[in-house]
Amino acid sequence: MVAWSPTGTTRLAAVIGDPVRHSLSPAIHNAAFRALELDWVFLAFEVPDGGAERALAAVRSLGIAGLSVTMPHKTAVAAAVDRLSPDAAALGAVNCVVRRGDELLGENTDGPGFLAALAADTGFEPAGRRCAVVGAGGAARAVVLALARAGAGEVRVVNRTAERAEAAAALAGDVGRVGTERDLAGADLIVQATSVGMGDRADALAFDPGLLHEGQVLVELVYQPAETALLAAARARGLTAANGLGMLVHQAAIAFELWTGRPAPLATMAGAVRAGLAGD
Ligand code: NAP
Repeated sequence: MVAWSPTGTTRLAAVIGDPVRHSLSPAIHNAAFRALELDWVFLAFEVPDGGAERALAAVRSLGIAGLSVTMPHKTAVAAAVDRLSPDAAALGAVNCVVRRGDELLGENTDGPGFLAALAADTGFEPAGRRCAVVGAGGAARAVVLALARAGAGEVRVVNRTAERAEAAAALAGDVGRVGTERDLAGADLIVQATSVGMGDRADALAFDPGLLHEGQVLVELVYQPAETALLAAARARGLTAANGLGMLVHQAAIAFELWTGRPAPLATMAGAVRAGLAGD
């Protein structure tokens, strides 16, 4: 790799969030900038809740070229940008800000990132198929919308809190339904989009894996740990199964392409995520 150091023309991209210190975004994007020898650098800024509007003012005044947005700012940033993409408007959430001339455009790359990872990791094609999403938080909502946009025949949302399930299912329009755990047995694709199984709770299960059977595809959005109890159970039952690493990489890759206009070096970005998760 060519030696690089910042200069007077170096462009800055960044992530805002709180907490943000453990974000993998700087590792992913800096690896990609170096791989393509772009004179860009990516930094993480810890911005407490309520600070999104001031952070966007800084993006404008400092000419920051691209911004990733994570918790708790996705909704506040959606209200503070100049324009929203159709996905960001439907979700009321922005995870990526793109500079277009003097305007800041709010995008949401989670759904397209999910679809790209689904194709790459499992080969599943949602058009006309029965899909079930377990969870109704930010990640689940992006997946529900993306599956509907990809032509899914049905998107059933199964969630602990009924009102949130209804709001998420509405994002899928005519094909959206609220479901129960029993509906999972009849789905072609099941997406586990709750936080159950995350971190040191890898043994926890969001639903009974006894409902799963061969011929189905399971995507677990959790990526740390890489192998949850649910993933292991799904594989043991003969399902095609993938974790959330692919979505993490692809949503970042789409942001990278929006900012730089260059094809993202996917293998480099995936390597940076794996190294970051392994604590290298
Ligand atoms: P969120 O907005 O806080 O939503 C959390 C969801 O989990 C809600 O549906 C919540 O149900 C459910 N939940 C939490 N604890 C539960 C429990 N004990 N039993 C049943 N349901 C429970 O979080 P999020 O941002 O959507 O993230 C969800 C997961 O997706 C996390 O594991 C996150 O790491 C992962 N994720 C992955 C990617 C990726 O790129 N791979 C991207 C984003 C998120 P209620 O509505 O009933 O509270």
